[in-house]
Amino acid sequence: MNSLAARLDALRGSGPAVPHTAKTLAALTANPACDRRALLDAAGVDKDTLAAHLNLPRPLRPSTIACDHGIAFERRVTAQAGTELLRLLRETLDLTLPEASYEDVNAVAGREPSTLALRCTHTRNVILGAARDPARSRTLLDHPVLRLTVAGHPAYLEPDIVAFQHHETFHIVEIKSFPVIDGQADPTKVAAALTQAAAYILALRELLAEEDHPPERVSSQVVLVNPRDFSHRPTATLADAAQKVRSLSQHLGRLRRLPDLLDQLPPNTTFDLAPDDTAGPTRPREDLAAALSAPHAHYSPGCLHHCELASFCRNEARRKSRTALLGTTVRDDIAGIDTIALALDLTDGREHPSSDRADITEALRHAHRVHADFLAGTT
Ligand code: SF4
Repeated sequence: MNSLAARLDALRGSGPAVPHTAKTLAALTANPACDRRALLDAAGVDKDTLAAHLNLPRPLRPSTIACDHGIAFERRVTAQAGTELLRLLRETLDLTLPEASYEDVNAVAGREPSTLALRCTHTRNVILGAARDPARSRTLLDHPVLRLTVAGHPAYLEPDIVAFQHHETFHIVEIKSFPVIDGQADPTKVAAALTQAAAYILALRELLAEEDHPPERVSSQVVLVNPRDFSHRPTATLADAAQKVRSLSQHLGRLRRLPDLLDQLPPNTTFDLAPDDTAGPTRPREDLAAALSAPHAHYSPGCLHHCELASFCRNEARRKSRTALLGTTVRDDIAGIDTIALALDLTDGREHPSSDRADITEALRHAHRVHADFLAGTT
């Protein structure tokens, strides 16, 4: 075990590591400047259990009905050896009929977490074999398991489908249950799907690089399959994930700063939940909260949608009167002024601005005058 791995293990403590998933990688790109989240994820801390132990309200999760709907839609699309999916791919990717064949990796070893490494090896063999010899390749690989190196650790990722050997180029297919209505899907949901797909693209490129295949063998064009309008009928569209791939690559590169982040923590800091025999956390809450407060957080209201610790960080931001509470637009507009109290003091003249804050102070005072005129009814 290298020293970084040992330090991260000590930070996590005695519980088992929770591996990265495409969703946690997507959350990483949602708030790349947050050291707290980077450390928690890199150490594999069980954030869900940690949040529950601290009695934090949880982010909204999809309902059971929504989950069941998503599973039913995926089954419909891939049923009968992917017959419906093949039809969609032929239309979207112009696949020709002789290229069409299908394999479900789950048929090799089931879906249990214990078989993850086995399924990953099988996926690897099939994909590398296909990359070497496109003539004998399969077109669709259902439930593949890919491996992506994150901060020196393997993360296992499970895309819906890898469709490959279309002009010797691999494509990721994401089956999503949010609808496309009149040809338009919710852009926020599309962006989230592409961020997840970016992790799969990078993992596939990492795999192919083992045998010196160029990254271009994996397309950044992702096939999104969604229900059409208000029906259960699927429709497929191509969406470009290139920007998301670049962004995720950068953020993964930033994880190289982990040793620096660990160096900045007070000695012996640990997020250990001290689980008992039944895996229930026993660590005193104040103790855990103090440890959690050690790394720098970069809270924004968007955290409420993607991070288990959002309430903890929001309370901290409130206590410290952080401008981030007002949203990223305000925070960026008055960058360099970190607290609401300081912004008010500069506006009211209680604080004299330094030269680098003169422009922002003038803008704040102007906004204050406009607001005061508005309240007085003189505008
Ligand atoms: S909620 Fe806290 S830990 Fe999570 S990303 Fe936001 S600032 Fe970071």
